[in-house]
Amino acid sequence: CGIVAYIGQRDAASLIIKGLKRLEYRGYDSSGIAIINENGLGVFKKKGKVVDLENVLNKGQIAANIGIGHTRWATHGEPNDVNAHPHKSNSGRFAIIHNGIIENYSSIKQILVNKGYIFHSQTDTEVLVNFIEEIQKTKKCDLPEAVRIALKEVVGAYAIVVLDAENPGQLVAARKGSPLVIGIGKGEYFFASDATPIIEYTKEVVYLDDLEIAVVNSEGLTIKNLQNEEQDPYIQTVELEL
Ligand code: GLU
Repeated sequence: CGIVAYIGQRDAASLIIKGLKRLEYRGYDSSGIAIINENGLGVFKKKGKVVDLENVLNKGQIAANIGIGHTRWATHGEPNDVNAHPHKSNSGRFAIIHNGIIENYSSIKQILVNKGYIFHSQTDTEVLVNFIEEIQKTKKCDLPEAVRIALKEVVGAYAIVVLDAENPGQLVAARKGSPLVIGIGKGEYFFASDATPIIEYTKEVVYLDDLEIAVVNSEGLTIKNLQNEEQDPYIQTVELEL
């Protein structure tokens, strides 16, 4: 039920873990984190509290400057390590975190199963990341475009952040129904379900609107709607105190 993601120069994993703890009040049954470093895309997840996740993390393995983290409130599939987020796509290229519900996941899953996709979890979320992968492969497009096309087919509510192992300098996020805030720092960006994990680093935030996709990379932040029209980010200063 919470999302934290980071790209910049800091130690992503410790920042994300700290942020997930700030979101604990929202309630959850499991948590997880994915990072990209010189060993590729790594996913670590655990049923229980964020401290239970911390206990299985090996500092050397998770040293990275980009990562996504999640606390899950199970809607599809019981709370366990496998159903916890992040979820990887079949090729291992993409990893996703998701808050919300993909209502038409079973019809999309059937199409993907017919194409040979394998599912390890019972979640609606694992369907979405493989749907994005299938679109990326057939259209030969980049991740933001694959996410845009996928979300046009999706019925439901979501806040998502997606990692691409082939693009370690990029985070792609989107929302409909579930909240998502983007923090803008100096050469660094934060994503979170609310501003509490962000405000100790920056007060400059953009509240992503429904049906918008945000991409951050070396060129900065770009926001588009699902019709592929670029949107002007409205940057606000939060006054929230911790
Ligand atoms: N529907 C997803 C699941 O059950 C996400 C739940 C959430 O919002 O944490 O895994």
